[in-house]
Amino acid sequence: MEATLPAATGFQAEVRLDGGGPLAPDFASRGSLARWHERTADRVLHAVLLHSGAPDRACAHHQDRTLVFAGELYNQGELLGLLPGRALPDGDAALILALFDVYGAPVFRLLNGRFAALFTDSRRAVLATDHAGSVPLYVSVAPGRVLAATEAKALRAAPRGRPAPARPVRGRLGIHQVPAGTALDIEVATGKCVTHRTWAPPSARRILPEDEAADAVRRTLERAVAARTGAGTPLVVLSGGIDSSSVAALAARRSPGPIDTVSMGTDEADEFPQARVVARHIGSAHQEITVPTPELLRQLPYAVWAAECLDPDVVEYLLPLTALYLRLGGTGADGAAGRRVLTGYGADIPLGGMHREGRLPHLEEAVCRDMNTFDGLNEMTPTLSAVAGHWSTHPYWDRDVLDLLVSVEAGLKHRHGRDKWVLRAAMRGVLPHEVLVRPKLGVHEGSGTTSSFTRLLQDAGVPQDRVRQAKRLVVREIFDQVVVGGRHPDEVAVDAIARLVADREPRGARPAPR
Ligand code: AMP
Ligand code: MG
Repeated sequence: MEATLPAATGFQAEVRLDGGGPLAPDFASRGSLARWHERTADRVLHAVLLHSGAPDRACAHHQDRTLVFAGELYNQGELLGLLPGRALPDGDAALILALFDVYGAPVFRLLNGRFAALFTDSRRAVLATDHAGSVPLYVSVAPGRVLAATEAKALRAAPRGRPAPARPVRGRLGIHQVPAGTALDIEVATGKCVTHRTWAPPSARRILPEDEAADAVRRTLERAVAARTGAGTPLVVLSGGIDSSSVAALAARRSPGPIDTVSMGTDEADEFPQARVVARHIGSAHQEITVPTPELLRQLPYAVWAAECLDPDVVEYLLPLTALYLRLGGTGADGAAGRRVLTGYGADIPLGGMHREGRLPHLEEAVCRDMNTFDGLNEMTPTLSAVAGHWSTHPYWDRDVLDLLVSVEAGLKHRHGRDKWVLRAAMRGVLPHEVLVRPKLGVHEGSGTTSSFTRLLQDAGVPQDRVRQAKRLVVREIFDQVVVGGRHPDEVAVDAIARLVADREPRGARPAPR
């Protein structure tokens, strides 16, 4: 039977010339752990795979070559067509390894997927992310040793590595994050590294008639949803906005029975009525989950622990979803299996949806800026849902969907007075009119997360004009505790950190004590 979750959702792996010992894994992601150990004449590979039952399919081995793979591919059909006459490889890892024999390291340019991978042969280690870097991958490189993991905290105990052509992680000397759309080809003996770019956002813009553009978006998004649906009933996290409603509607159309949808809100704000309209329209089995605001804020350390992100705006987007995932039934106390979750996340980035303005030069500039700065924010890390044993995936960041959405000319993104026009046009006949024209509401707004986080800081004594900076400091402090320091998020008191940050305000900026 086809599995619901990928064979592995994360890994830690070490390639060494001098042996080395077993790894001590430390993941926020929940899952079973399987160890893989392999020795060739020249090197040793130790790996720990985070899996949901079939770890063998996440590790492929042929002669002196091994591929360790976390995540999944969405274009297996195309890829299999590149191996005519061969026995069909069993699983994504075996498929990529077979293609590696033909294409070498540039094989990663062929893949449409959500993954992090390590390839190793007798003398090198190649570390690769998908086009969007949607499964983060961290590395520590020293002569004779390459250590990699899908969570930075798993490399906490790594000896200091040498500089690599990648982004250093705060507080983790010598740990770097492999960029999105990149394969780092490392000679293990020397630590020398060659970078292969495997994807870049398109800069050119396509000029299409309205109908053609809308059809192309519809078809491409349908394929992306189908590729992500898996064997069981899909679960869509649904706000009722155009992005998640489109994903839910397309998933429902191809599902023999009702799909599952879920919406979260807080005691302060929700989008329940909007989501209900969509759930009723597509006939989903719909659930509403209300998280009390104090509880939501207490889970801030979980969002930072999972996303390993220092950007306070991003953490505000991710917190309500983290809280939602933690409340979904799944692996854990009740022993139920983890869910495959589809989201509408990320449509705003290629379509400029967060920029509520119609001037095309500004829209174009915003899209370029966002497409050049998403890397390293870990907005789409699977760890957010994996902390509760689930696997999330994002059809709008499918490689084909993303290429198309980025490249349609700005006048198709904002048209007839509407933002994300081409997506709204693509969904005509699929969603009710009121959903097609619904204005954007960010998850941080719809759940009241931004305002309640602001209030937490103001109550601690932070003046209004310092709130933004204070949020940055709170997130940084949490990061230092849970990622750098290795604390469990339950041991981190957000209230105390807010007070600490307020007390550090420069003299004069604080209101006089009453
Ligand atoms: P947004 O910031 O509204 O673009 O949200 C990004 C994605 O998160 C949406 O496309 C949904 O899949 C999900 N989402 C946002 N708000 C909610 C909510 N209140 N309940 C469930 N899922 C949500
Ligand atoms: Mg929304």
